[in-house]
Amino acid sequence: MSDNSASDQPVLKVAISVPVSREFDYLPPTDGSLPVAGCRVVVPFGPRKQVGLVLEHSGASALPTGKLRRCSASLDEEPLLTGAELRLVRFTADYYHHPIGEVVAAAMPAILRQGKPLHPLIEMISATDLGAGADIESLAKRAPKQAELLETLLDAGGNGLEAEQLTDLLPNWRRVARALFEKGLITRFDARSADFDETLAPEAQPGPALNEDQQAALTALRSSDAFGAWLIEGVTGSGKTEVYLQRMRDIIDRGQQVLVLVPEIGLTPQLVTRLRNRLGIEPALLHSGLSDTERLAAWRAARSGAARLVVGTRSAIFTPLKNPGLIVVDEEHDHSFKQQEGLRYSARDLAIVRAKHLDIPVILGTATPTLEMLHHCRNGNYEHLRLPRRAGGAKPPAVHLVDTMKAPATDGLSEPLVEAIRRHLDGGGQVLIFLNRRGFAPTLICSSCGHIAGCDRCDSRLTVHARNRELRCHHCGHIRPLDTTCSECGESVRPLGEGTERLEDTLRLRFPDHTITRIDSDSTQRKGAMHEALDRARDGDADILVGTQMLSKGHHFPKLSLVGIVNADQGLFGTDFRSAERMAQSIVQVAGRAGRASRPGEVLIQTAYPGHDFWTTLIGGGYAQVAEDALAEREITRWPPFTRLALVRSAAHQRSDAINFLELARLFLENRCSDSLRVLGPVDAPMARKAGRYRAQLLLQSSDRRTLHSVLRELRPALEKDPAARKVRWSIDVDPIELF
Ligand code: ADP
Ligand code: ZN
Repeated sequence: MSDNSASDQPVLKVAISVPVSREFDYLPPTDGSLPVAGCRVVVPFGPRKQVGLVLEHSGASALPTGKLRRCSASLDEEPLLTGAELRLVRFTADYYHHPIGEVVAAAMPAILRQGKPLHPLIEMISATDLGAGADIESLAKRAPKQAELLETLLDAGGNGLEAEQLTDLLPNWRRVARALFEKGLITRFDARSADFDETLAPEAQPGPALNEDQQAALTALRSSDAFGAWLIEGVTGSGKTEVYLQRMRDIIDRGQQVLVLVPEIGLTPQLVTRLRNRLGIEPALLHSGLSDTERLAAWRAARSGAARLVVGTRSAIFTPLKNPGLIVVDEEHDHSFKQQEGLRYSARDLAIVRAKHLDIPVILGTATPTLEMLHHCRNGNYEHLRLPRRAGGAKPPAVHLVDTMKAPATDGLSEPLVEAIRRHLDGGGQVLIFLNRRGFAPTLICSSCGHIAGCDRCDSRLTVHARNRELRCHHCGHIRPLDTTCSECGESVRPLGEGTERLEDTLRLRFPDHTITRIDSDSTQRKGAMHEALDRARDGDADILVGTQMLSKGHHFPKLSLVGIVNADQGLFGTDFRSAERMAQSIVQVAGRAGRASRPGEVLIQTAYPGHDFWTTLIGGGYAQVAEDALAEREITRWPPFTRLALVRSAAHQRSDAINFLELARLFLENRCSDSLRVLGPVDAPMARKAGRYRAQLLLQSSDRRTLHSVLRELRPALEKDPAARKVRWSIDVDPIELF
């Protein structure tokens, strides 16, 4: 050994956020500290320094000791992630075939990734006494930007604002601030970031007495504190949440923490309020709407155990917990649990893995379980609990089809639907009109030559957004002014088909005396707009709600009695093997908003194919029947959950680069193919060109998970090394939920 002084020191295996599937070996820093697993270190990496996380100590390195570099510094005295959390990180890297350094990065708040301390000082800006007494009006005349900044800080009062918050409000404030600092009107100081405050919660409120079905489910859940995955399949309004609440209460009273994963916190403020009020506990919230310091504070509270209840979206699955006792996944079927870029993990699946590692129960609730979960229940891997009736006596809604061949829709609405809306409004009910397409119209067409306005960078049409007089591509985000004439022949153009904006206009024309609220991602962009709209909807101030699937998720609108589904045919002839499952989920979820309280609910579905088998099954047998038929079909056709899939995607400026790269992957796999692995492709992605890049894909299908993972384990590093990889963007998606 060339360097004896280092030989008795352990080698640190460090995860660094770079797109390479390996760990890196370093010696401990020279300051004598020995960072343990879960601590961050600063390491030299090529010409730069990087923040890394120690994964473990080892007696040996593949590198000769003389070549090993040392960590430059240790950043933590205590590990940020401990045993079970590091195990989850490792599992995630292995299962999704993703570089472990990037998994660690996903598991950590931004501030910690940047190498700042767990309790960082925050840069604060506030107005001085001099600033408070300044003559804002005269300042506004000379320097309006300065006046705006000073006023913003005065409005914030007290300690002023975090620099980061200020950047959200006034992106260029630093340039403006200089003059104000010089005049002594504002000041800058460092403060310790606020800690999570559990005392904010109100006193716990009692809930309703459970009905028989709920009680039976709760008794089953209480039968074990060890690992078990419990699927609660309860029709919408059956009182699933009440059941989890009681189980959460048990766990929390025992001094353990509960982690609740929800689809999109912005969409479910009602759930958070309900958890807070019923449990009398302030939840630590982890979602995308937080500032970096807020997110860190919640993360710290989960890690230290100060927060007994942790509620978050997808990435919260990686949050460290001091003393976890239960994980709940609400609306298990929701797609937002699967990350669709970078590290393509399923938070729902990781919740089950984490619960298993921790030997604690995990509850998965939904009215429309995925076929994957149902399959596991049938095989006896998971427990299946059912709540078949609505709680508190509400009746299931009556569902009817409107045949649009006989009763055609004008600007989206058929006469039977208009009549039903009128009937429900006259009876004091509230109406929800669902159309899963935002904008005014999905197409702009020339009345003369038939030319359709398309995106220059994608194989897609541009959507008409009439409110902003724009054409937008919903795939790459490209926006341009609305054409008034055809770009090909100069004749007049017209919007074809309808989106939520157009439907809103139609409803206003037909029901001028009623309040109409549109809820979609365009109408709710402003911060807080979503909350306000949902409050109006819940309090019954909006007579008619019109919107996309945003409206279908978990909301409870007591006055809502009619749901109209405007264009239900989009999914009937879908090419994806999941089409029927998805469509049934979205219809059942939105239909479930009707008649949740005392008013009986009604659902009208407009379709041009009322005789289609899908409708017969859904109306006759409900979601359960659709799911059962779909499972039988997938067993025959060998699609998931009867087989396992992985998708290798590539994208490049030249189509040939994208395809050639996947050809290499296919060759590599062919040499290792066994009977239980099928390789399909490469083929163009269903939308071949997106944002100026050509996209292709290679599908791997196997009846045996082990085979699939063992070839992927070899494929990933081989592709990383291949020079062809430099010309493309590529990824591996394990258990893909979108096949494009
Ligand atoms: P889910 O989560 O299945 O959609 P919730 O738990 O939100 O159902 O319950 C739906 C509505 O029924 C809520 O207003 C809830 O307060 C009420 N509810 C739930 N369980 C009962 C019960 N046992 N008795 C009376 N009302 C109930
Ligand atoms: Zn585009």
